[in-house]
Amino acid sequence: MTADATSIFTKIVNREIPADILFENDRLIAIRDIAPQAPVHLLVIPKSTEFANVTELGLGDPALLAEIVATAHNLATLHSNGEYRLVFNTGGTAGQTVFHVHAHVLSGGLEEHTLA
Ligand code: 5GP
Repeated sequence: MTADATSIFTKIVNREIPADILFENDRLIAIRDIAPQAPVHLLVIPKSTEFANVTELGLGDPALLAEIVATAHNLATLHSNGEYRLVFNTGGTAGQTVFHVHAHVLSGGLEEHTLA
C-alpha cells in the first residue's frame, strides 16, 4: 500500500494549501496541527508518498523513521521544554484520518493525560 498521493499533506508539501511550516528539508516537513490537542501539537511528515502508516515506513525506510524521531526531539526542544509524546495513529479504527504517514508531536501540559 502506498500513501494517498493527493493527501492533504502532499498538498501542503507542494504549497497548494497553506500551513504553518516549522521545519523542512528534502525528506521531511514539520507543521503545526490545524486542530491542536495540546499546547504544542506538531506534525512531522515525510515528503515521500510511499508510506501510508508507520508500519510501512518502519519496514520500508527505518532511517527515515529515525529521522522523524530526531526531528520530533529537536522541535520539542525549540518549541516546548524538550519533553513530548510521539503518536502515530495507524488505521481508521485507531484514529488515523490521513493515510500519509505522519507523527504527532504533543508537548506541554500532558501530565494528566496518561494512556490507560
Ligand atoms: P490523524 O487523524 O490521521 O492521525 O491525523 C491527522 C491530523 O492532521 C489531525 O490532527 C488534523 O487536525 C490534522 N490536519 C488535517 N488537515 C489539516 C490541514 O489542512 N492542516 C494542518 N496543519 N493539519 C491538518
